[in-house]
Formats: sequence, C-alpha cells, structure tokens
Amino acid sequence: NTFAEIDLGEALNQNIQRCKYVKPTPVQRYAIPISLAGRDLMACAQTGSGKTAAFCFPIISGIMREQYAQRPRVARTAYPLALILSPTRELSCQIHDEAKKFSYQTGVKVVVAYGGAPINQQLRELERGVDILVATPGRLVDLLERARVSLQMIRYLALDEADRMLDMGFEPQIRKIVEQMDMPPPGMRQTLLFSATFPKEIQALASDFLSNYVFLAV
Ligand code: AMP
Repeated sequence: NTFAEIDLGEALNQNIQRCKYVKPTPVQRYAIPISLAGRDLMACAQTGSGKTAAFCFPIISGIMREQYAQRPRVARTAYPLALILSPTRELSCQIHDEAKKFSYQTGVKVVVAYGGAPINQQLRELERGVDILVATPGRLVDLLERARVSLQMIRYLALDEADRMLDMGFEPQIRKIVEQMDMPPPGMRQTLLFSATFPKEIQALASDFLSNYVFLAV
C-alpha cells in the first residue's frame, strides 16, 4: 500500500516523496480515497495520526484537477476555494506549513489567518491571492465582517480538531462561517470533519454540515 497507488496526481506525488512519506497512515489509507470519491467524511483522528495530510491531499488534488488554481484571484476580497478551520494559532500554522510543502510547484496557494496577531500582514497576504485558507474561527469571522474574505467559492471545507473547537467555545463562529457557504448552490461543497471524540455536539455539527457522509474510525 503506497501513495503512488492512490490517484493524487504527479505533482502531489512528487511532493509526498519529498516529504519522505512512503506509506499512508491508517487514517490516510481510508480517508483519502473516500474524499477523492467526493464523499463527505467524519473521521476519528488523534494528533500524530497523519490527519493533516489526510485532508490536505484530496483538497490539493481536487483543486489541481479542476484547474481552479488558474483563475484570476488577486483582489481586495479574497475568494478561497478551500477552508481549513482549526482551533489554535499553533495548529493553524502547523497545517499551513505542511499544506505549503504538499502544494509546492502545484500553483495552489495556501494562506493562514489567526487571531492574537496583527491583521494587516494577513490582509496583505490574502490580497495576493489564496486557494486554500487555513484559519481560526474568530479571525475568520473578523475577515468576513470586513468583507476581506468571501466564502462564496468554497468547494472544500475541513474542520480539524472539531471537538477542541467546540470546547473552546467556537460553535457560534463556526455556524456563522458555514452559513455563509450555504448561499451558493447546495451540493458544491465537500466537507471533511476530523475529531478525536464524538460527543453529541459533534454529531449535531456533522448532521448539520455534512451530507450523506461516511463515518471513519480507525
Ligand atoms: P499529523 O497527525 O497530521 O499532525 O501528523 C503527524 C506527523 O506525521 C507529522 O510530522 C507528519 O509530517 C507525519 N506524517 C504524516 N503522514 C505521514 C506518512 N504517511 N508517513 C510518514 N510521516 C507522516
């Protein structure tokens, strides 16, 4: 079982080799084919399971396949195609670093935005174009209120450490964010929800945000 057997595309496979990933981890082995098939997914994943690649690979591969990355995109309001929500600045930065390695020389642009830091630098980055936005919920709501980010083009939504985001009180922000994605025609967004635990609050989020989803516990 190797990454080359999964149809991720040549450029992404080269980046996977550069990262020295040889074999998919268990969560990757199942989550990646399910996501590539276009299904919504709720996956059980702990830190260290390889979950970042599990949601980044299908997103990058999908954006490249559709050649969305070629569209004009330098503007005052940023129109990302994919959104990755994570609870903290540290986790968002980690995801951003990994996603950048995975998307090297693919034309797919990754930008990170998190709270507790000046917004101006992040605004300048966003203005230069973004395909995949990695963000914490509070900062993203701020960007939406300033109309510096629009979620109208979102095709992929990943929620990482969803249980931790709820523990930190981000549910209202998350709901507000996802509401803005429900304006384009339904069925255009693929949603991937990763969580270490599945209390009833997470199950409620899943039934509100995911459609006809696969539940993966490895
Ligand atoms: P994560 O659970 O996404 O935080 O990943 C944990 C660590 O495992 C990170 O340092 C990844 O770079 C690494 N990793 C993820 N997938 C693989 C893989 N298939 N082979 C080797 N290392 C991996």
